[in-house]
Amino acid sequence: MNKIWSNSGDSHFIEPDDLWSKHLSKELAELTPRAVKDPGGLTETVYVDGQSFQRRLPNPTQREFGEASSRAPGFNDFTQRIPDQDDEGIWCELVFPSLGMWAASFKTRELVKQTARITNDFSVDEIIRLSPRLLPTAQVSTLDVDDAIEEMQRCAGLGFTSVFLPVVPHPMQEDWQHMYWEPLWSAMEEANMVVAFHVGTEPVDMANGQVIGVWFRGNGGAVLNYNETTFTGQRAVAKMVASGALDRHPNLKVMLSEGGSTWVPFLADRLEEGYRQHYMSVRPKLSRSPREILYSQVYTSFQHDQSAIIAAQHMGYTNILWGSDYPHLEGTYGHTQETLHGLFDGVDEALSQRIRFGAFEELFPSAPKLPANLAGSLGQ
Ligand code: MN
Repeated sequence: MNKIWSNSGDSHFIEPDDLWSKHLSKELAELTPRAVKDPGGLTETVYVDGQSFQRRLPNPTQREFGEASSRAPGFNDFTQRIPDQDDEGIWCELVFPSLGMWAASFKTRELVKQTARITNDFSVDEIIRLSPRLLPTAQVSTLDVDDAIEEMQRCAGLGFTSVFLPVVPHPMQEDWQHMYWEPLWSAMEEANMVVAFHVGTEPVDMANGQVIGVWFRGNGGAVLNYNETTFTGQRAVAKMVASGALDRHPNLKVMLSEGGSTWVPFLADRLEEGYRQHYMSVRPKLSRSPREILYSQVYTSFQHDQSAIIAAQHMGYTNILWGSDYPHLEGTYGHTQETLHGLFDGVDEALSQRIRFGAFEELFPSAPKLPANLAGSLGQ
């Protein structure tokens, strides 16, 4: 079987357990997330910045359908990361935090600010310096726009090319469609930083009983919760379009990782219809159609979806990136080559290249290209 190489628009790093606690004052360190296993061992209680909730512990040994991932050797050992990617056939990766996904749940301004800074410095030392193939997302406050801009600009100077944002900002703050965030979009456009949303990153909102990733319990819960993450990602994108944020900033690009891609043409239909049929009530008016904005400024990634390539082939939406979700359990580690062959064998080569490399390189022009000898010698 020839090796197929691809960039990944959806990967993660796993922070050391003590990354935040060892750099924070004792008072702030006590507010960072920690999980304590409950009696019986089936659930754990998670404590985060004065809030707590209980959740079921996953059982990674229970697998069906043969498509599940095994734990990658480099999941928390950076020296093993590039060897893992070479084995799997993954060239460049957009790398999101793991622990950092909790930061939108912190309600203490200084905690949000300092944890972002600590994580970003760690990313420079351990990821950016390790290999130019790894493109970590910067982390910023979603509680305070001035803090967010300050850290984003610092990170732009450190070599970051994107900023990770959760699909919903902090529950104490305005949502993404609000003009409160306008200065951040301006500053990010100016700094050439990509807005990198990742699904499943809703903050803990104790006031409304919302725990990260848990909307349903009981029958069907696991699949329903996984399914739901695509919708909150779609909402984040819809807010960026309908509010005019992307229209006002035509050079600002949005990446939405792990939420699939096929929904973009459908969302374009809905936004077009809403914009046209409710035109009298529409504020603000846009200078371009919602579809044009979506198709030109919004990029998305999928891992296994059978329909994503068909959307590119037949619906004209080609800002699609394949993503491995390494090293998370939803990802393709251990079956990346089977997945890539299953998706791309027989697909028009130009379209295959677009999804595996082209869209990624358009978003991140500074990312290194796959060396011709690798691409050539492997029959691609
Ligand atoms: Mn992911």
